[in-house]
Amino acid sequence: MLKDENRIFTNLYGMHDRTLKGAQARGHWDGTADIIKKGRDWIINEMKASGLRGRGGAGFPTGLKWSFMPKESDGRPAYLVVNADESEPGTCKDREIMRHDPHTLIEGCLIASFAMNANACYIYIRGEYIREKEALQAAIDECYEAGLVGPNAAKSGWPFDIYLTHGAGAYICGEETALLESLEGKKGMPRMKPPFPAGAGLYGCPTTVNNVESIAVVPTILRRGGEWFASMGRPNNAGTKLFAISGHVNNPCVVEEEMSISFEELIEKHCGGIRGGWDNLKAVIPGGSSVPCVRGENMRDAVMDFDALKEKGSSLGTAAVIVMDNSTDMIKAIWRLSKFYKHESCGQCTPCREGTGWMMRVMARLVEGNASVEEIDMLLDVTKQVEGHTICALGDAAAWPIQGLIKNFRDEIEDRIKDKRMAGMAAE
Ligand code: SF4
Repeated sequence: MLKDENRIFTNLYGMHDRTLKGAQARGHWDGTADIIKKGRDWIINEMKASGLRGRGGAGFPTGLKWSFMPKESDGRPAYLVVNADESEPGTCKDREIMRHDPHTLIEGCLIASFAMNANACYIYIRGEYIREKEALQAAIDECYEAGLVGPNAAKSGWPFDIYLTHGAGAYICGEETALLESLEGKKGMPRMKPPFPAGAGLYGCPTTVNNVESIAVVPTILRRGGEWFASMGRPNNAGTKLFAISGHVNNPCVVEEEMSISFEELIEKHCGGIRGGWDNLKAVIPGGSSVPCVRGENMRDAVMDFDALKEKGSSLGTAAVIVMDNSTDMIKAIWRLSKFYKHESCGQCTPCREGTGWMMRVMARLVEGNASVEEIDMLLDVTKQVEGHTICALGDAAAWPIQGLIKNFRDEIEDRIKDKRMAGMAAE
């Protein structure tokens, strides 16, 4: 369990003063110029040593990602873009940072931008996050007033500007290249890669897109050292992590914990246990709605990190843990997710545009048992044809929950089809 002295987010629940004064009293903005003066290589090496893996879902090593940015400018400016378009169902961790602990994010933006030779950072915030936007903008304004950002940011000698852009509420704008399109004022449609953003991103310039949590942990890592961060969690799964636990637990919450905590400890310590007890646990979606579900009996001993959940046939994703008890109609729950992804598809590529609608319609029939058993494999086959055959990962996100359902709850789908057929025959 995470020790209090290792906590990075000290105001996650908004119990303390979130203004600059309060943030400074909790240790933020302490020695920022000294960190910057240590230079780019030191910062990137320290981030690599910390073992931080991106907190937006993919888990790509952050220090390594930063090192892809050009060391010398070819005349084009470089940009840091922070992805605050937190829209995945179940995921609600970044908003706690933005509304209650915004200064650690802003300080992280300055340091990360410096490390990547960027004098400007854009934060793209989800359209529905109105209050979060207000809180973050108020914090940015305070920083300008105090000289922590601006022409000589935090007296480091580095000129730095930060801009907050409000999205319009489309899930697809959380995909990094769609986000860049939207920032440029275009329709939020993902770009083909390559070129990758580090080569040609925002306005065709070198750009790195990072998640809010990934950037917000940077100042503390650099103050306390990469080794400190790496000492928590299992190897290759380092650090602390915000978990957002929702669904059928007694106390749904967002909590900072040590990576690699067991699922049982996470639920018992912070959520007051499963509603109705552990025997009532049916399934868990451990990483946000796009990852496959895991049967309850396989989750109890699960280790909550990237590698362990992969072995369980799922993923840590954003660590948005959706817990479902025996009252859940699993087929209906996954159909609802199919409906979401169908609605959010940008329609640019055929397998996703057609496939998400097709999958949703079959799922709707499965909810009613209005299908033949052979159609289960046909549906599985379609998910495989969508997965990996689209421009962006939304196609995968639509396919994986269905694959998880069929793998773990095929018996339930088949029973419903048989029950429906029996009921039909009885009525004849
Ligand atoms: Fe658009 Fe879907 Fe293709 Fe992504 S996978 S680009 S959301 S159509």
